[in-house]
Amino acid sequence: MTDRYAVVGNPVAHSVSPQIHAEFARQTGQGLDYVRLLAPLDGFSATLTKFRDAGGKGVNVTLPFKLDAWNFVATHAGHALDAGAVNTIDFRNGTTVGYNTDGVGLIRDLELNLGFAIAGKRVLLMGAGGAAQGVLFPLIEHAPARLVAANRTEAKAERLVRVFAERKGPLRTLDWRSYPKLAGETFDLVINATSASLAGELPPLPAGIFSADSLAYDMTYGKDPTPFMEFARKHGAARVADGIGMLVEQAAESFFIWRNVRPQTAPVIAMLKGVNSE
Ligand code: NDP
Repeated sequence: MTDRYAVVGNPVAHSVSPQIHAEFARQTGQGLDYVRLLAPLDGFSATLTKFRDAGGKGVNVTLPFKLDAWNFVATHAGHALDAGAVNTIDFRNGTTVGYNTDGVGLIRDLELNLGFAIAGKRVLLMGAGGAAQGVLFPLIEHAPARLVAANRTEAKAERLVRVFAERKGPLRTLDWRSYPKLAGETFDLVINATSASLAGELPPLPAGIFSADSLAYDMTYGKDPTPFMEFARKHGAARVADGIGMLVEQAAESFFIWRNVRPQTAPVIAMLKGVNSE
């Protein structure tokens, strides 16, 4: 029987993960099947248990279930230990192991694909859900001059920073702000790790947040530029990027965890962007 994998989320119809994994499988000669699974908002565990009991080998987890996934798994490995959020689950060997590949995916996209070095830069991370939790520690490891977290529900941004301090020790360069209190500050890298773009919305960012050579990075992706990317262009960001590169890079890391084979990401990113990679 062909090994089965899935991406679990709500919503999940927008996910291009099945295309990415089909392309990785073709590239590396691996036989696998990868589908989308829509889980009811109160039915994440039941959906996963059913998939696993039917022989599923692993899943990717997308919004809003990354924190539920952290609670679901029997053990945490790799960056999931620090993140408190899980986006990749491996069901092999009769156990349930949770990983987080979002951080690796974001860092590879920023540093390797987009040529943006994080060290010494001022970074604003918007959002405090599963995606933000997954990338916070890897970003810090790359030594930004400053990292500020901001979130619509302010208590969650405060908690994100406090949990980091409890686990790793307080850090002078890490802080949180309410959106209005960002007025007057500028950042070299502004990361939108909220799901606002999926609803055609924009976090309440003050204008003037972008430095002259800044990169505005939206983790969300789609056919058209997101409201955040449009806002960034209009308000002086030097460059804008969506989350396609991160999506492919984090998928490659999941594929490596499941199959122990590392696929090439550049042709898949190019394919999804509709660019000829040759
Ligand atoms: P969650 O549901 O866990 O968190 C959503 C976050 O977005 C919360 O912080 C929420 O704030 C905030 N938010 C939602 N709507 C708005 C709004 N209108 N204005 C301001 N803030 C808002 O989702 P995830 O963290 O899992 O995912 C976030 C986004 O990142 C999704 O769009 C997802 O597709 C994308 N993503 C992309 C990846 C990639 O590889 N490219 C990888 C991971 C995620 P509050 O706490 O106030 O509710």
